[in-house]
Amino acid sequence: MDDRSIYVGGRWVPAHGRELIPVIDPSTEQCVATVPECSSEDVDRAVRAAYAVRGPLRALSAEERAALLERLADALEERSAALAEQISVEMGMPRHLCGPYQVASAVEVLRTTARELPTVAFRERIGHSTVVREPVGVVAAITPWNYPLLQTTSKVGPALAAGCPVVLKPSELAPLDAYLLCEALDAADLPPGAVNVVMGTGPHVGESLVRHPGVSMVSLTGSTRAGRRVAQIAAASVKRVALELGGKSPAIVAPDADLAAAVRHTVDSVMVNSGQTCTALTRLLVPYGMLSDVESLTAELMAGYRVGPAADPESDLGPVANAAQLQRVREHVERAAVEGARAVWEHPRGSLPEKGFFAAPAAFVTPDPSIDLARSEVFGPVLSIIPYVEESDAVAIANATDYGLAATVWSADPERALRLAAAIECGTVDVNGAAFNGRAPFGGHKQSGHGRELGRYGIEEFTEMKSIQVGVA
Ligand code: NAD
Repeated sequence: MDDRSIYVGGRWVPAHGRELIPVIDPSTEQCVATVPECSSEDVDRAVRAAYAVRGPLRALSAEERAALLERLADALEERSAALAEQISVEMGMPRHLCGPYQVASAVEVLRTTARELPTVAFRERIGHSTVVREPVGVVAAITPWNYPLLQTTSKVGPALAAGCPVVLKPSELAPLDAYLLCEALDAADLPPGAVNVVMGTGPHVGESLVRHPGVSMVSLTGSTRAGRRVAQIAAASVKRVALELGGKSPAIVAPDADLAAAVRHTVDSVMVNSGQTCTALTRLLVPYGMLSDVESLTAELMAGYRVGPAADPESDLGPVANAAQLQRVREHVERAAVEGARAVWEHPRGSLPEKGFFAAPAAFVTPDPSIDLARSEVFGPVLSIIPYVEESDAVAIANATDYGLAATVWSADPERALRLAAAIECGTVDVNGAAFNGRAPFGGHKQSGHGRELGRYGIEEFTEMKSIQVGVA
């Protein structure tokens, strides 16, 4: 394998595309590798390789598919250290955090998918019909740079579980972990062509995949902008599309909540991965009476995070993943000041590393919930604290964005908590810091997308139903 190779039909083959895309380490701004910008012939070869293995994959029993996922999970786990290193270099999360957040989570998705496979009703009796769930066909999986391996296994795992071959196009900004994934695919002895990997940019290689007639379904995780474009192109051939897009998730703190726990949990979610998490709780909604306590708690907590290079074991936050992302974060923060936001805490810019795409963590009070910072996805370590008067105001503010991915609710009163959870327009709500459940469906409402990942629903997403009625011969 050299830096012009792509993984097609279980082999490394040279890409036809002649251009190379540099991969930049965001901690050092150095180019660490290049990957090819695939041509449409490359995409075609990958889709054909996937198409050719539809029958053999479909013929595997559910037990055999579960075993295949377990083998892939084992093979990735054996490469944990190399994967963590690669991901920290390509997207900037501190190396010591990549193990749990980026790799172990990705492996766990495969294992959970394998365990959930028996719960899918692939064959069901409804009246005199037998309803079967069949694999949808070749899946184009298009993934982002923030949790590159986790987003990949969240698509590849359920697609294989459903019996679908995959063509993966990882983000051109963090593509290198996908090469280690290919090594794991080899080691796990997956049927050649079950997973193929092409490299390149969204508008070129991504769109070429979405247009390809051999692709039956596109599963994209990325920005709402990319989701809109993919849906538009897919509509031309009425292709199935699953979209996991952006978010601007609220944390609503009720007057009876454990304030310290709520603020700690919210700040953590904004700081982890330098704010580049789709479910980051970037809007903290608090009663006016609690505002000054929230401000001091937030400032105290934020001051305790260390910002530094991904290789430094002391770093809690690395850089953001690329120069364009840093520019976007800075623009949001500058606009916030102009639009009347008041800073509660700002990491001193002078103490950030000189080299690297480091964004200064910050928290602002934004009494006007309609300003840009309170409504747009920043995708950086920036928190907006929004005071409210009545519970109904909190709900209205929480719902006043185009997004609807996740939320948290904090209250000592279970009835109030569930009432709030019901009123928020989003796909997942955690009450009082409840743990993540990888078996429950994950996905968005509104412009956070549609379709569900994870668990049984994540597998069913990649199936198509057929009703069979048998009359008397
Ligand atoms: P992005 O939209 O720029 O890119 C995501 C992927 O889509 C990349 O592989 C990119 O090459 C591809 N792409 C871009 N334009 C395309 C096009 N026209 N056609 C086909 N493919 C195209 O997003 P990003 O900057 O890599 O990731 C950040 C975004 O992802 C944020 O908005 C974040 O909230 C979202 N995200 C969502 C989830 C979720 O589960 N809902 C998870 C992680 C990230």
